[in-house]
Amino acid sequence: MKIYMLLYYLRHLTLQYCLFCPIFALSELRLCLERQDFYCAESRLDSLKQLNGNQKDVLRAEIQLQKALWHDQNKDYRNAVFAVEKAHAIQPENIQISVRLATAYLRNHDFYEAISIIERIRSRLGVEEQIMASLILAQAWMKLENYNAALNELRHQEYQSRQSGELYSLMAICYIRTSQPESALDVFSRKEKNTGSLSSEDQRLKHQAQQNIRLREKYTTAVSSSFRVVMQANGNSEALRIYLDILDRAYMDVGRVLDYYPKNYTRVLFLNREDFVEYTSIESEAVAGLHDGASLDLLIPWEKISQNQEKSRLENVIYHEYTHHLLNLMTKQSRNIPLWVHEGLAQFLEPHQDMAVKHQILKPMILQANYYRQDMPENVSLHSGAFQFYAQAHSMIQFASDKGWLPSLVSQLPLLRADFSFADLFVKSTGLKMNEFIETWAKTLGEIYAD
Ligand SMILES: [Zn+2]
Repeated sequence: MKIYMLLYYLRHLTLQYCLFCPIFALSELRLCLERQDFYCAESRLDSLKQLNGNQKDVLRAEIQLQKALWHDQNKDYRNAVFAVEKAHAIQPENIQISVRLATAYLRNHDFYEAISIIERIRSRLGVEEQIMASLILAQAWMKLENYNAALNELRHQEYQSRQSGELYSLMAICYIRTSQPESALDVFSRKEKNTGSLSSEDQRLKHQAQQNIRLREKYTTAVSSSFRVVMQANGNSEALRIYLDILDRAYMDVGRVLDYYPKNYTRVLFLNREDFVEYTSIESEAVAGLHDGASLDLLIPWEKISQNQEKSRLENVIYHEYTHHLLNLMTKQSRNIPLWVHEGLAQFLEPHQDMAVKHQILKPMILQANYYRQDMPENVSLHSGAFQFYAQAHSMIQFASDKGWLPSLVSQLPLLRADFSFADLFVKSTGLKMNEFIETWAKTLGEIYAD
């Protein structure tokens, strides 16, 4: 009975090769792995003289896979990749390890590597592995903003994977991002039929797809080289000219600073307030625009432009939301940029700055030492402290720019990973920790306000 239990425990060490080897030494190896002491596991393996080269290779690869799992749990995806690469080098013909390697690449944002390894092995994949491989490929293509390639992959796999809710959700997002709301609705009904339910995010996207179809009655779509503009059908051509002119300038100006240009059309919906509320379920008049992280649409509640002052405000809203959009694309929607950087940069890149208003908010904050000290909040409600938060975020980005730190900070944003956090990046770009930076910023502003 005892021996049976031990064998059961050792199953994950691919034990069929080892039934006749000393169980004691193997169980020591297992204990090393349980302690995540991989060095110990490897030296135990070396001392197992009874195993032949092949058997040792199986275990050696297994140790690397366990190591990768441990790195994964610590969100250290880079070292997880290194470990699976080692396992793959030991057993290059092992299909499961190849699929594991593709998953590790995907997590570490090595999208082309993930695609290339799946392409190499796909003719040898079994049904289950096919499904997994298609999901990896589709996600990699989506991160690379190639939604048609992702759709191709998912559509081929749908027949085999009718139970996979994930497949349907990815497919629906691709249809929404490529302006095919009817197909997205079809996908949602197939998902509901085959998997029995829709998530709340599915429901939200389904609502958006329905809204997009409904809007066609009174809205029209115009296309420029980089944008797809949805605006009211009775809006005049002058308004469209203004929208496209501002958008094209934002494309150049924001693109230059962030060094990023989207690979697809950016869809921008100019909606009247009523339709904006129905589309987004946001009633607050304070919301001047938003970027939707799933559909990647920019939604702007704007009907017409009657005076110049309004045009400046609209320019600010467009530049602001477009900045959010690019930051989102640059970081592959991984949400690893702190809110203050998102909002600070979006305000900093607005072309019309009203510094007087900002200083009015900042001055008492600085003089009464009533600013955010270290951890800028990750969530600001529209009612409490939002103005202060926005003013501080903007001023901090302005300060980083005055000091010449902004280009380095911005250029490294696409490199953010679980193992290269914004805090690391920040120290690398400014030479300061966040709290030191904030104190330097406050001191500099304090000197200005004291004069
Ligand atoms: Zn914003």
